[in-house]
Amino acid sequence: MGLFSIVGNSFGCSASGERLVSAARDGDFQEAKALLEYNPRLARYSTFGGRNSPLHFAAARGHHGIVSLLIESGVDINLRNYHGQTALMQACQYGHWEVVQTLMIFQANIHKTDYLNGGTAIHFAALNGHARCIRLLLTDYVPGAAKFWDFMQNVSVKDELCIGDHDLRNLIDVVNHKADGGITALHMAALNGHVECIQLLLDVGASVSEVTVEDGTTIDLIGAGSTPLHYAACGGNAVCCQILIARGACITAKNSSGLTPFMVAQIWHRNWLEEILCSPSQVPAQISPSPYLCLPLMSIMSIARERGWRTTGGDVSPCMDPCAVCLEASCTVAAEGCHHELCTRCALYLCTTNNTPSVAPGPPGAIPCPLCRTPVVSFTMIAIASPVRSLPKRSLSLTLCATCPSVSSDPPSMASAHLCRSESQCSSSSLRSSSCHPSMVLNLNPVFCMGVPETSPCISRCSRPGASLRRTTSQLDNGRRSWPFAFNQITAAASS
Ligand SMILES: [Zn+2]
Ligand SMILES: [Zn+2]
Repeated sequence: MGLFSIVGNSFGCSASGERLVSAARDGDFQEAKALLEYNPRLARYSTFGGRNSPLHFAAARGHHGIVSLLIESGVDINLRNYHGQTALMQACQYGHWEVVQTLMIFQANIHKTDYLNGGTAIHFAALNGHARCIRLLLTDYVPGAAKFWDFMQNVSVKDELCIGDHDLRNLIDVVNHKADGGITALHMAALNGHVECIQLLLDVGASVSEVTVEDGTTIDLIGAGSTPLHYAACGGNAVCCQILIARGACITAKNSSGLTPFMVAQIWHRNWLEEILCSPSQVPAQISPSPYLCLPLMSIMSIARERGWRTTGGDVSPCMDPCAVCLEASCTVAAEGCHHELCTRCALYLCTTNNTPSVAPGPPGAIPCPLCRTPVVSFTMIAIASPVRSLPKRSLSLTLCATCPSVSSDPPSMASAHLCRSESQCSSSSLRSSSCHPSMVLNLNPVFCMGVPETSPCISRCSRPGASLRRTTSQLDNGRRSWPFAFNQITAAASS
């Protein structure tokens, strides 16, 4: 492979390879596509020196369309550059969550470690404060179980680490993976003051008592045997210290140099931490769950992998209501609980981007349904049925004609309430929950309502009798930051 790639780079495809690298870096999708159609093997090209592939460049610059194009052209998704970094690490370093999402759909390996520091993609995301990327990286480990958060709060080492079929040992191992020097993702987030990452990491099982070790290679300015609280004390962020203490960090823990977190704070002139690190009564006893905890992500990701997630627009039959969020694609998933239907892409986007605190009656980590605000902990796949399906005439006219005249003038929420009422009056189950579907409400038009109750169906948009309204169911080579760089920043900040 080595010789082949050198020969390939030198003679065969170096010019085209460099063009592909430029296209990947600059986000020129058409150029990248044309080059790959001309020669799909160009996807495996790598630059001299840094050995960055086009995939690395596209990932580091956040061009997720090109990332999926390259993966579909057959490039190894876990390809490493000279420093052992994968495209996933680079996307996490720069916080390009759409790239991370794409790489996770294609099942990139989150366990790879880089050659410089032994850090995983989670370390890169935590170091730079990208909670959304951490959430995506843990997609396959955080189950959509309503009691997940409560369980994780009360878990102890000797407990059975299972919720239903999900063994949480793997999650805890992944989150507490140690890079060189015993540094965990929580250490990195604590040092750099990334509150959102700390909250999320603690919710998914990060340990506040992991300590760093002397390994002879890592430059550790804080000292071996340091907990995340020592690191937070050095970093100087008061909220980080408070959260760690509230979640059980010990303020009297000493590292191998005999320093407590308070002493570390003094050395680094973090005087404002004195109260927090000396008298725990200053710290609120209860810390609320991270708004980045997202329980339905596992279910929607597995649906996206199985059935695809792209929508081209116009893939909806004229007789079917489209996804109520994008109004483009047909519905492919249903929220568990309220049964509202969405397309996979919108549900995935919702799970990835939502960072509102959980709604009161729902469990922490549930996200609100975009249509009715019901807390959702998982999505289920719905059968793709024939777009035209006969519905009983009676139930159709009953449900819709009763409401059509009022719909056009009502605001959506009111209209929705009307439909819900008529649904509950109607004994037929054929229009169940989707009767309350806002998109349907908005599409209703009195002009199309030609039905007389019990004689002919009322039709919205599609005027065929019996037609179904809806189914019911460059930074790469010179901007690289490494752990010591983070320390440099701290040092600079402390000395200024
Ligand atoms: Zn949609
Ligand atoms: Zn809903």
